[in-house]
Amino acid sequence: MSPVIGHLDPDFVKVMEDLKGLLRAVFRTENEMTFPASGTGSSGMEIIAANLIEDGDEVIVGVNGAFGARFADCAERQGAKVHKVEAQWGHIIEPGAIETALKAARNPKLVAIVHAETSTGAHQPIEEISALAHRHGALMVVDAVTSLACVPVEVDRWNIDACFSCTQKGLSAPPGLAPVTFSAAAMDAVRKRRTKCRSWYLDIAMIGSYWGSERVYHHTAPITMIYALYEAARIVIEERLEERWRRHRTNAAALHAGLNAMGLKLVAQEGHRLPQLSTVAVPEGIDEAKVRAELLRLFNIEIAAGLGPFKGKVWRIGLMGESCRRENVTLLLGALEQILAGMGLELARGKALAAADAAYAAAAG
Ligand SMILES: *Cc1c(COP(=O)(O)O)cnc(C)c1O
Repeated sequence: MSPVIGHLDPDFVKVMEDLKGLLRAVFRTENEMTFPASGTGSSGMEIIAANLIEDGDEVIVGVNGAFGARFADCAERQGAKVHKVEAQWGHIIEPGAIETALKAARNPKLVAIVHAETSTGAHQPIEEISALAHRHGALMVVDAVTSLACVPVEVDRWNIDACFSCTQKGLSAPPGLAPVTFSAAAMDAVRKRRTKCRSWYLDIAMIGSYWGSERVYHHTAPITMIYALYEAARIVIEERLEERWRRHRTNAAALHAGLNAMGLKLVAQEGHRLPQLSTVAVPEGIDEAKVRAELLRLFNIEIAAGLGPFKGKVWRIGLMGESCRRENVTLLLGALEQILAGMGLELARGKALAAADAAYAAAAG
C-alpha cells in the first residue's frame, strides 16, 4: 500500500494543477478560478452564495424543485433579499418570468438557476436567462450538480459567472467534493465586497491562495478524494464530452420508449426532459416504496423516491455517468415490468424491451 502524500507535496501539487486543467475542460471554461471545493455538491452551492452575496443583496432564484429552494435558503442565510421565481414542479423556469423579476429588483446582484433539477427531471435552458441577467447587470449562477458530464454545460459560451457540481453524479466518483468555477467578473465582485465572507472555511480568497501559485495552507485538502476526482475527470475527457452526452441521450431515449410502451407516464415537461434523471408517475394503487424495495432485493437496482410534493407519487430513475449503460436500461425495464405485473397492475406486457431496442436501432442510424 502506498502512503497518502501530503497536501503540499510537489507530486500532489502536480495533481492539483492537472486537475484544475481537467475541470476547466469538463466545465468548458478558461476560468482561472476553477477547483474542487471540499464537501459534497451543497458545499459548491454554499461557496458561491457565501462569497458572492452580502447583507441586503437582491438575488433572483428560480425555484421549480427541491434544489432551487435549497439555493434560495442558502442565499437567505447569507443575508440576501431573495426574489423567488417559481414554476410548477416538472416544468422549466421561463425566461420572461426571470426578466419580470429582474425589472422589479432595484439592483439585482445575481440570478441563480438549477440546470438539471434532480427532484423533477426538468432540463433548464440557460443561455437566454444568462443574457437577461447580464443585461440587468447581474451575475449568472448555475447549479450544474446533476448536469455536468451528462448533458452540455458550456460555462464560457453561456456566459456563466459561477457554476458548481459534485463528484458522485455525472462524474461517477465517490461523493465528497464540489467542482466550482468563478469567472473574472465573479472574482471582481468578490474583491469588491464591503464585508468579509461570513464563512471562514469557504472563503474563496483564502482557498484561492492554496489552489493558486502561492500554495498557502488554508485547510488540509482531502487528498484521496482529489485523486478520485482526478481519475474520474480523466475518464470523462478520455471518453470525450460529446460522446458522453450522446451516450446519455441514446440510453434515455431507449428508457423513455420502453416506459411509454409499458404504459407508464413521464412526469417532466415534454421537450425539457433530462436524459440522466427520469421522473415516472407511480400508477394508481401501486405501493411505490414496495416497488423500489423489490427492485433492490431481486435485481440489485436502486431507484429513488419522489421528494417534497412528488413524495409517494413519482419514481426517479438515474442514468448518470458510468451507470448510463444499455444493460442497465434493459435490466430495469424487464425488472419493473415483472414487479408491476406481479402486483396485479394491468400493463402492456412484452412491449417495453422491443421499444427500447427500436430506439437503440434508430440511434445507431
Ligand atoms: C444532489 C444535488 C445537490 C446537492 O448535492 P450534494 O452532493 O447532495 O450535497 C444540489 N443540487 C442539485 C441539482 C442536486 O441534484
